[in-house]
Amino acid sequence: MCALHEQCGSSAIPFTRLLAAALAGVPAETSVRELWRALGEAGLIEALFADGARPSSAFLGALLAALDARFPIGVTLGICVQVGSALPILLDSGGDDLGVVRHDALAGKAMVALAATDEAAAGSDLMDAATILTGTDDGEIVEGGKLWITNAAQADQLLVLARCRQDRHFTSFAWVLVPRDAPGVSVRPATTTFFRGAGLGHISFDAVRVTAEQVVGRRGYALPSFARYISVERLAGALWATALTRRVIESTCQWLTTPSAAGPSRWDDQVARHRFARCLVEQQRAESLCAQLSSQVGGPDGQRAAMVLKAGVAMSTDLILSECASLQGAHAWADGGLAWLRAEAGMFGVAGGTTDALLDGIASYPPCPVTTS
Ligand SMILES: Cc1cc2nc3c(=O)[nH]c(=O)nc-3n(C[C@H](O)[C@H](O)[C@H](O)COP(=O)(O)OP(=O)(O)OC[C@H]3O[C@@H](n4cnc5c(N)ncnc54)[C@H](O)[C@@H]3O)c2cc1C
Repeated sequence: MCALHEQCGSSAIPFTRLLAAALAGVPAETSVRELWRALGEAGLIEALFADGARPSSAFLGALLAALDARFPIGVTLGICVQVGSALPILLDSGGDDLGVVRHDALAGKAMVALAATDEAAAGSDLMDAATILTGTDDGEIVEGGKLWITNAAQADQLLVLARCRQDRHFTSFAWVLVPRDAPGVSVRPATTTFFRGAGLGHISFDAVRVTAEQVVGRRGYALPSFARYISVERLAGALWATALTRRVIESTCQWLTTPSAAGPSRWDDQVARHRFARCLVEQQRAESLCAQLSSQVGGPDGQRAAMVLKAGVAMSTDLILSECASLQGAHAWADGGLAWLRAEAGMFGVAGGTTDALLDGIASYPPCPVTTS
């Protein structure tokens, strides 16, 4: 039985076949919402989370590779953030009050954005986030702002990281689920021509009223839950980036080996072959990291494993895309060419944690990982 069948349970239909059938009916110029609905209606989001809040990494890899092959980065990003972090946090939260939202999200009827990066703090340091949840006699109020949120412009619900105590402490935060159309919520689209379809935006919360039922999970537990599930998003990003570089390497190989109108193919140039070989080495390195660390992400050393995976794959992605773009010369600058893809793929070293911040985190893990006996 292949790995992709393992978690299908009694279903005789493998995930990949269901996925191919679902995507066949979706046009390449689709929106995240249409794609999310198609995945939900085909039962694929449910299948991803068949074992609970952590998606199957085999299914996750298959999903993101299939999306990457068909859709622009922005559209895949809109799915990736939902299955990588927003849904896992929501599914793990327990409590019946949010059952409808969970059900609708798994069915592809509702989209959920994860709003953690705060306007008052660096994204790498969430402890300084200032968006606040305040209790009043009349209920609770959310006040503040979030930046660079994927799906901000198109999600139904916003899963917002909010401070519930003033102390600068790991236990001072709560998750709050805020409908995007709630009074006091406003979304400004991010001014970027990158990530078409991702609905990237900045969100303001101006005295937004919420009920106690909209607080997701236990108060004070949001940062531990973020740390646990951002690991899943980091794994998802690594699996996606590795699929993306695999297809870029294939297309670059084709480019290099196709005879040019002026004469022989570029493959005759030894320097070009060596630079391409360097990309193959990096690709193998990234795939090996994924193979070795995917299964560790849910385990006791999962946060460190996810940081190593994300930082390592982001570095390989950067190297492969810059070499392949350079090998393609001016061709890389044509519309839809590698120069654009390379710029967008730079997000693998920023969104969900910058490479520098992750290296800082890896270095701070005792004992030194290379000295394990
Ligand atoms: C395409 C895209 C989609 C995104 N989607 C979402 C989303 O859906 N939800 C969400 O909440 N956020 C999202 N973000 C925001 C993203 O998570 C943040 O941009 C990221 O966490 C980095 O934060 P920052 O931009 O404030 O950079 P900073 O934290 O200010 O970091 C900038 C630079 O400072 C240096 N630096 C920072 N910390 C350290 C350190 N500890 N050690 C060494 N150097 C350091 C590094 O050079 C780093 O690259 C998205 C961003 C992008 C680009």
